[in-house]
Amino acid sequence: MDLYEYQGKELFGRFGIPVSEGRLATTPAEARTAAEQLAGPIVVKAQVLTGGRGKAGGIKLAESPEDAERDAEEILGLDINGHVVRKLWIEQASEIAKEYYLSVTFDRGTKKALFMLTTEGGIEIEEVAENNPDALARLQVDPLEGFQPYQGRRLIYGAGIADPSEQKQILDIIGKLYTCFVETDAMLCEINPLIVTPEGEVRALDSKFTVDDNALYKHHDIAEMRDLEAYPPEERAAREKGVTYVKLDGEVGILGNGAGLVMSTLDVIEIISADPQVRSIVFNIFAGITRCDVVAQGILQALSQTKIEHPIVVRFDGTNAEEGRAILAEAAPPNLHVEATMLDAAKRVVELAG
Ligand code: GDP
Ligand code: MN
Repeated sequence: MDLYEYQGKELFGRFGIPVSEGRLATTPAEARTAAEQLAGPIVVKAQVLTGGRGKAGGIKLAESPEDAERDAEEILGLDINGHVVRKLWIEQASEIAKEYYLSVTFDRGTKKALFMLTTEGGIEIEEVAENNPDALARLQVDPLEGFQPYQGRRLIYGAGIADPSEQKQILDIIGKLYTCFVETDAMLCEINPLIVTPEGEVRALDSKFTVDDNALYKHHDIAEMRDLEAYPPEERAAREKGVTYVKLDGEVGILGNGAGLVMSTLDVIEIISADPQVRSIVFNIFAGITRCDVVAQGILQALSQTKIEHPIVVRFDGTNAEEGRAILAEAAPPNLHVEATMLDAAKRVVELAG
């Protein structure tokens, strides 16, 4: 689950990572009030679950509450990479002397937390990795050992940060970011830019924060941060039933392996067939622990409980695939087609969508 900048910053704040003060606003009038409360120059920031807001005109500096109101009017409703702005974060503006980059992600390859730090902040990290890879310092943290300050120092030297006061503050931030990352079950915590003010103060100016969906049951406060309005209605309906539906382009609905067969099959079929864009459905089942005969029974039960007009193609492979196909062949619902390979199933379901 991705968090908005303001939500990520709230979590940063809880772990002692310095952030600027701000307020949430959903209308220009609220933006004005927020600016009045904060006083001084402020920055109006679009809250959308995508990056590159600065370039897209989603971030504006304002000198007065009137300016903030005008900026809010311009930014609200803006489409940034397909995300429409409905919320603004009104923040006390910072003066920026330097822009660094600091992140920690979960590296699936090594199963360790991976820190990245560079003084080339404020731009996309992919760009730094490609054009200036030597500027990017990395550090892996063993989960059993935990984070050790000497590792943080090595990371800071690696990135070429020489100022002792910056070193001290960043070391502190790295340690807190690691605690934040572990304790929230995050997959990514990114600060870009991590700024140094003209007075030499280091602060997180942005946040990109992703929490592992499978750990949300442990974090009710974070789970509640999910903004259902930011999801397509089909995904929302699925979430309410405890299943996952990912809305994509195209006309073929796909159902893949998952447990809790009958009920979740029924729920997923209902959700897929309620999507007006879907014209045919493919069940793509590669059974390992799952057994195809049980899946076949699940499909038949689901079809007996809900009326589906869409053509359905089933591909079974793996455990008890033969038995599964035999069960479907015997019941032979008129709109159900069985194919032996994924390629055949794909061809058939596309034909049937046409
Ligand atoms: P992103 O474009 O979505 O990554 O949004 P950021 O929050 O990273 O902001 C983009 C850029 O806007 C930053 O790199 C800064 O240059 C600028 N910016 C954001 N907040 C402030 C601020 O408080 N003061 C100043 N001077 N610039 C800011
Ligand atoms: Mn940023």
